[in-house]
Amino acid sequence: MTQYLDGYDYKSIHKKVREIIFNPKRLKKSAIDKYMNYYETKCAGSRQTIEDAKSCIPGGVQHNLANNYPWALDGVKAEGAYIYDIDGNRYIDFLQAGGPTILGNNYPPVRDAVIDALHEIGNLTGLYGDFEKQLAMKIKEHYPSVDLFRMLASGSEACMIAIRLARAYTGKNNMIKVKGCYHGFTDQLIYEIRSIGTGKTAAVGVPDECLEYISGVMPNDIEDLERQFAENEKNGGTALFITEPLGQDSGALPLTKEYQQRVRELCDQYGAVLIYDEVVTAFRIGMGGIQELYDIRPDLTVFGKVIAGGYPGAGGVGGKAEIMSQLTAGLTLGSSKKVMVGGTITANPVSCVAGYTALCELERTDAHNKLKTAADKFTRQLADLADKYEIPSMIFNQESILHIDLNAFQHVGSFIDEFSPEEIAERTAAAMHLMHEYSMAMCAEGIIVAGGNKTYINLQTIEVLDDALDAYERVFSQYE
Ligand code: PMP
Repeated sequence: MTQYLDGYDYKSIHKKVREIIFNPKRLKKSAIDKYMNYYETKCAGSRQTIEDAKSCIPGGVQHNLANNYPWALDGVKAEGAYIYDIDGNRYIDFLQAGGPTILGNNYPPVRDAVIDALHEIGNLTGLYGDFEKQLAMKIKEHYPSVDLFRMLASGSEACMIAIRLARAYTGKNNMIKVKGCYHGFTDQLIYEIRSIGTGKTAAVGVPDECLEYISGVMPNDIEDLERQFAENEKNGGTALFITEPLGQDSGALPLTKEYQQRVRELCDQYGAVLIYDEVVTAFRIGMGGIQELYDIRPDLTVFGKVIAGGYPGAGGVGGKAEIMSQLTAGLTLGSSKKVMVGGTITANPVSCVAGYTALCELERTDAHNKLKTAADKFTRQLADLADKYEIPSMIFNQESILHIDLNAFQHVGSFIDEFSPEEIAERTAAAMHLMHEYSMAMCAEGIIVAGGNKTYINLQTIEVLDDALDAYERVFSQYE
């Protein structure tokens, strides 16, 4: 039986989770020892600099990565398909800083445009610049749901403003999200993040009151969705529904088109604003994101990552004019009905020029077709490897987002009806440890993966996928 799965087939993926959770495989002890030894001997420089950094940075690291085990790497250069560490090791970059560098690391046309902008415009003006319009128009061109667009500094910030817009527009407070989806780390959106059943566990330092109006529904469960909308009617109605339209953690547990269609109908029926958080998927799942693929128009779309071409700050919100026009800039006081938004470095020349140039380059290079062809082939080859070495796995892709999951650590919470909370915590921790070992092994074999299970390919890594496949085989062949 092949381990290959269709990346949009929720049922098969969900079924496979069970097999992995109940029958996980792990790397042989001899392999773990070998990879630990790699770190000891080949990554000693990283170990030292991270230790030193602990004197001024909490834990010495500022990114939440799988590759922080057994210790983080000191990356000194990112170029094309590769990342280099301080010890002179070269890695194929499947992390891609979490997704924004879809054209490759330090992609010359984007870098050159940014350097030109710095020479011609400077780093910041604090005034309007036409580069803002260029980017906004390019986004509108590909997103018919976007009448107006406002740049922000990050995806988290953009999600925060999107929910504020929706509440101001509807005059209601309640919001519904799909359990497990990530919408940044702001107070109100920190409920049920990353994995089903996490509830308030990530809300350390967040008062319960902040989470008063948010409820989570199970992915693809239309009854649960209908129940929550009806329930909210007894309590002021629903202001908004927000989701990662591809599903939890960039499609690790995909949401079906049928489900999304019902969400759209219910939002219309109950007068709720539909927000698609396309921070990851916009300009990655094709130019038009999931909304183009599923032919569904949200009222608001949250953008991030690719829209600043891999440069800071990557965030923005776009949508219907009647909702977006609440953001009109300019000074006001007192009785204004405006939705407050600010940002010292928002919509600066670097973000806008890099973003605009990157989007034009995606068009010019026909990147998405090339990425899809390469990713579809590569994922099937990986699944064949998992078959060959008899490793239970979920291997699938949605265009250039690849899920290569051998431990299902994010999915244990889906079995909330079968396991006690203690058992869920225990199994999740055990699966997470296996994921860390896997990431360590991949790293020692020359590949940096993202989040352990999810991984991205970009226009430059297409050229090195054969090498990557060899590295995966070296790791897979050492499973028990
Ligand atoms: N939404 C989604 C779907 C994301 O994946 C992320 C970041 N990974 C965010 C929001 C937050 O974006 P940022 O990290 O730019 O704050």
